[in-house]
Amino acid sequence: MNVRNMYQTLGIDEDVYTYAENICTSLKSRFDEIDRRAELNQLKVLKAMQDANVSEACLLGTTGYGYNDLGRDTLEQVYANLFHTQDALVRPQITCGTHALALALMSNLRPGDELLSPVGKPYDTLEEVIGIRESRGSLKEYGITYSQVNLLPNGDFDYEGIKNAINERTRLVTIQRSKGYEPRKTLSVERIGELISFIKNIRSDIICMVDNCYGEFVQEIEPTDVGADMVVGSLIKNPGGGLAPIGGYIAGRKECVENAAYRLTSPGLGKEVGASLGVSASFYQGLFLAPTVTAGALKGAILAANIYEKLGFSVVPNATEERFDIIQAITFGNPEGVIAFCKGIQAAAPVDSFVTPEPWDMPGYDAKVIMAAGAFVSGSSIELSADGPIKPPYAVYFQGGLTWYHAKYGIIRTLQEMKKSGLVRLP
Ligand SMILES: *Cc1c(COP(=O)(O)O)cnc(C)c1O
Repeated sequence: MNVRNMYQTLGIDEDVYTYAENICTSLKSRFDEIDRRAELNQLKVLKAMQDANVSEACLLGTTGYGYNDLGRDTLEQVYANLFHTQDALVRPQITCGTHALALALMSNLRPGDELLSPVGKPYDTLEEVIGIRESRGSLKEYGITYSQVNLLPNGDFDYEGIKNAINERTRLVTIQRSKGYEPRKTLSVERIGELISFIKNIRSDIICMVDNCYGEFVQEIEPTDVGADMVVGSLIKNPGGGLAPIGGYIAGRKECVENAAYRLTSPGLGKEVGASLGVSASFYQGLFLAPTVTAGALKGAILAANIYEKLGFSVVPNATEERFDIIQAITFGNPEGVIAFCKGIQAAAPVDSFVTPEPWDMPGYDAKVIMAAGAFVSGSSIELSADGPIKPPYAVYFQGGLTWYHAKYGIIRTLQEMKKSGLVRLP
């Protein structure tokens, strides 16, 4: 049996497979470039592990207080090595990306301080952390104010506006690398570097924090290589490599990371407590695989952009532009397209492939949302997943894939669903 036959066995029509396969072939040089970058990042991770003397004993866990947890402490050294920072906090007790970001903010800001976002509105869940949307326990409740400067209509930084927004109370600047669900472009590390230089030139003591979610290993450098004081992210996205079952990280200047540790556990205890239980091995192994997993997800996003742009749909990023995160948005212009796409992703999953996703009223959203995910780790979005609100412009956000071949199959499966529903006609 060859691959073409195997696709047929999985219910993919000949013309669907051929259409996608031809586009794959045309992307070869781009994929080679991604592989080169993955190779570099693989070596970076390996060096970070070797320099930290990762040993077999590091793969074991502790219980209770978790004093002298070699695996935990060494892993934090690995992250510090990798991000070229003084210190890092990498813990299963950090429950998700939002928690990691909230922790970094709440521990490094004090009453009377001001937080500034110079890149527009932050990720949805941070609105409640900051208090943009009224919420119990928000920064606002603790007397920490917030100010925001939007990007200019052409996507550039509003340097004049940022300069005017910075005052003597500005203590921390938060920069979101990925676009999240905003229509703006994702920021490259180079652009983040320019923004940080500008801010540090105004006041060098302002803490520059980068929300690094979905950006890790997409480029050859990370925001801490261009002056960020802290990078923050989730282990059920890129750096967990699909194996981390939970967790978040903060890597950065010693003082920033220690502040976060004292907030996560307790003043006086800081990094000294926090048992790793049995998850250290999957944190190490996941990080080790993360460069190639991220590369596979990137190829999947590029394939999706090329297939759907060619079929006449609007895609962000477009088929040819450079990528700075693993998210792909596709605008279908009607609910049927969003639903068919999500059905395809679900049907391609290793887990729960027999389930049909339906739009539902998710808390916190003003329209029905449809989500497709058949993941080994619940909610993991480094695994192949897609979601979209059922409202104009009827766009779907797609990301992940633990292997390139699975990402490829998932996209081909979406095309099959689109064809079946009469939403696309293949030439
Ligand atoms: C996913 C994400 C978050 C929040 O992470 P959760 O793990 O979902 O809480 C924050 N910022 C950005 C840009 C993200 O993509």
